[in-house]
Amino acid sequence: MALLKVAKLGNPILRQVAKQVNLKELGGQHGELQCFIDDMIDTMREEDGVGLAAPQVNRSLQIVVLEYENNERYPGELSIPVTVLVNPVLSDFGLEKVLGWESCLSLADFRGLVPRYTSVTLKAYNRNGDKVEKRATGFEAVVLQHEIDHLHGKVFLDRMEDLTQLAYQEEFEEFWLKKKPVL
Ligand code: ZN
Repeated sequence: MALLKVAKLGNPILRQVAKQVNLKELGGQHGELQCFIDDMIDTMREEDGVGLAAPQVNRSLQIVVLEYENNERYPGELSIPVTVLVNPVLSDFGLEKVLGWESCLSLADFRGLVPRYTSVTLKAYNRNGDKVEKRATGFEAVVLQHEIDHLHGKVFLDRMEDLTQLAYQEEFEEFWLKKKPVL
């Protein structure tokens, strides 16, 4: 296991369009890209992220990983099993959008209110090079839009419609998060 260094906003790699993966390069179980994918998953878990895109760990490749289970930053959302997506493409965006507070390992400490489509169709390959196609809704749809944006050089700030709804994590908790009533 190796933890990878997370690229932060200002690093030009976050603003590049990532290269498509040649599926032949996914190779066998111990291939270089398979090790890299394992390192991405380890890094996402270590950093407490719910998703990570390869450009965020300094490789301009179209790979994202997702996993969600009871993360403190997103309480109450449905879980997402560990998922690896290669060359993912979203289409058939639903008509509705929902506003949600997002954060990003590349924008440490910031939270912002971001509009996202409530449903999307995902077409991608898994780490074995098999085709994956599904309709995603809810939190999974939001995470997919956030992570796949990274493959196109975009971060959540670019999607915000109102920058007055950008906050540091501490101020987010103090001023924006609904506090539980004191009993
Ligand atoms: Zn991000």
